[in-house]
Amino acid sequence: MSWNRQHLLDIQSLRADELTAVLDTAETFKGVGQRDVKKVPALRGKTIINLFIEPSTRTRISFELAAQRLSADVINFSMEASSFRKGETLKDTAKNLEALNADILIIRHRSAGAPHFLSRVLDVSVINAGDGAHEHPTQALLDIFTMREKLGRIEGLKVTILGDILFSRVARSLIWALTKLNAEVTLCGPPTLVPQRLEALGCRVTHDLEAALAEADIVNLLRIQHERQQQTMFPSLGEYSKLFGVSIDRLNQMKPSAIIMHPGPMNRGVEIDTEVAESERSVILDQVTNGLAVRMAVLYLINGGQVPTQPETTSSN
Ligand code: ASP
Repeated sequence: MSWNRQHLLDIQSLRADELTAVLDTAETFKGVGQRDVKKVPALRGKTIINLFIEPSTRTRISFELAAQRLSADVINFSMEASSFRKGETLKDTAKNLEALNADILIIRHRSAGAPHFLSRVLDVSVINAGDGAHEHPTQALLDIFTMREKLGRIEGLKVTILGDILFSRVARSLIWALTKLNAEVTLCGPPTLVPQRLEALGCRVTHDLEAALAEADIVNLLRIQHERQQQTMFPSLGEYSKLFGVSIDRLNQMKPSAIIMHPGPMNRGVEIDTEVAESERSVILDQVTNGLAVRMAVLYLINGGQVPTQPETTSSN
């Protein structure tokens, strides 16, 4: 079976079976990273462009390495040294990159909808690497991959997403992915960052941190997105950390089997204490490792690759 999508613009428009297909494909690619020779020829001769108009560490490097491991040629577009600074429009920049016979364009942009816009004006495949406060689809895919890997399933899992939900594209993509796969999602944080109306997305909203932690199988912590907030949404970082930061004491109140996730970059001492980030319950670096396999899978499937078939279960009669 092939994936039949030219672009990856968001999670909202994907079906549950398409999400699972990415996870199954990523599982086969995870093995490549553990080999001595960490490269396969799947995208040999293809050109991939990383067009990052907003800062990124993990996502850009992860896409670059994923493309290299699939043997594609990859170009990194740097905003600082480009004609963007001379007033060129996003459309013109992207059209010029397409004119170099690119096959896949990966874009991060501060404006929600920028990848959707490019998918309408270009012929190449477009992958959304984060658009404003809207979506960050590959982050959600690597998050659910990590949950399935660590806890064996997604359906029925109780996931608490804690922090700045309102301005977080990570939260939005993850909520779509988890609700499509029938996990139970609880959103928690201060009322200014986690308004009750978010329940319309199919999750529960609470401002009671103790309760939200006690019942969770997974707690996913989010950074305060200062760069997207027009005004201060809470009195001080110290107060935020006191009321909603996860300390070792709060970790100890969680189920012993519960795990901690964070998309990075972390603000230690604000949403997460160092002891929690570095505890055995934290799978934050596994998320980074898995991100590479997931992005290899996305590039491969967008390029027309086949989803691996699952071994058939045999019955005795
Ligand atoms: N790295 C994630 C993003 O690009 C999370 C964050 O920045 O807080 O949205």
